[in-house]
Amino acid sequence: MALLVLKFGGTSVADLERIRAAAAHIKREIDQGNQCAVVVSAMGDQTDRLVSWTREAAPLHDAREYDVVVSTGEQVTCGLLSIILQDMGIPARSWLGWQLPVHTDDAHGAARIVDIETDQLKTRLKNGEVAVVPGFQGLGPDGRVTTLGRGGSDTSAVALAAALGADRCDIYTDVDGIYTGDPRIVPQARRLDKISYEEMLETASLGAKVLQTRSVQLAMVHQVRLLVRSSFEPADAQHEDGTQAGTLVCDEDEIVEQQVVSGIAYTKDEAKVTLIGVQDKPGVAARVFGPLADANINVDMIVQNVSGDGKTTDLTFTVSDADLDRALEVLKDVKAEIGYEDLRGATDIVKVSVIGIGMRSHAGVASQMFKAMADKGINIEAISTSEIKISVLIDAAYAELAVRTLHSLYGLDNA
Ligand code: ADP
Ligand code: ASP
Ligand code: MG
Repeated sequence: MALLVLKFGGTSVADLERIRAAAAHIKREIDQGNQCAVVVSAMGDQTDRLVSWTREAAPLHDAREYDVVVSTGEQVTCGLLSIILQDMGIPARSWLGWQLPVHTDDAHGAARIVDIETDQLKTRLKNGEVAVVPGFQGLGPDGRVTTLGRGGSDTSAVALAAALGADRCDIYTDVDGIYTGDPRIVPQARRLDKISYEEMLETASLGAKVLQTRSVQLAMVHQVRLLVRSSFEPADAQHEDGTQAGTLVCDEDEIVEQQVVSGIAYTKDEAKVTLIGVQDKPGVAARVFGPLADANINVDMIVQNVSGDGKTTDLTFTVSDADLDRALEVLKDVKAEIGYEDLRGATDIVKVSVIGIGMRSHAGVASQMFKAMADKGINIEAISTSEIKISVLIDAAYAELAVRTLHSLYGLDNA
């Protein structure tokens, strides 16, 4: 007998038929004697719809009221799943974010979970009742509803699994696991049986939205075993040949056959800022990046050109595209202090990344990458690296070509 948290994403609860399919997966676990707490997302693209209504109502609006609106999608699916489970003869009840409660900080729209009260839940789970919890929502210190940022139901599920001390957290989605590249753009991508927390963390933060980055961080810190699997597989599918359903996200020592590169990720959510003719003297970088940090704008890749005349240079860096307009405003305001000739912003760029723990002990991954880009005539505008990843910034028009080229280069293509 195990204590499981099962999470169903948007496409897995998109309509009543899909919610019934989710209920069938829950029934299988209950029939096997397991205790189940379930976390649900909103139906399909309901959250997108709710977000756009708040923007139409007023482009600049109170974040607390935004949370009141966008948290409703999960309430609907949470109630509907409870009704369907009860109708199948399975004792179940809904526990909204404020009822448990799921305590968060006060960052409305992007709140972080501080603590989840689980005493009542544990007793009910022991008595065989299924607890159905809406993902994405919490209760702020001001007593108001909060939401965790887009994709936040993954984080709700992992946080609940950590709080309950669950044996595993199963993330049911529309793909049957984590692939070596986004299966929507790399048809040759392979499913991984296992991936380490660290690689998954990089993969998520570098653009693969299959898991919210924060959920992977939490899973790594609290050692929650995460299994990413498909809700579209029949609930009674047999895996008798010993093959496991889905991909397990776990410690790297559990992975026997470690590849040098485990996957390729890319993100279009980047924007490039270029300062032309910046003074080449001490203190300038601080005058550029200080005000951006004060405005809470995260800077990612930075490239400073060598100065030809020893006096001025160009400085290029990236921010998230959502922050581009604000970043340009901030830099215009401090133009006199920095002293630059021109300021440009662009969004027609993508960041493509190669990820793998094996890079720690294998040289040459970067040089192979740069050569492959050059052979395809793709210009690299910026580079950033960590111990287990290399990212390059390129023209958006080459995104798919670059991802597919790198996928083949590192031997990841499905034979
Ligand atoms: P859910 O609604 O269940 O939360 P998401 O749409 O958030 O599902 O995440 C699943 C999607 O993530 C998949 O349909 C897939 O296109 C995308 N994805 C991106 N990168 C990967 C990857 N490396 N492996 C698997 N899926 C990926
Ligand atoms: N429904 C929310 C969203 O679409 C949370 C989630 O699905 O994870 O962002
Ligand atoms: Mg998701």
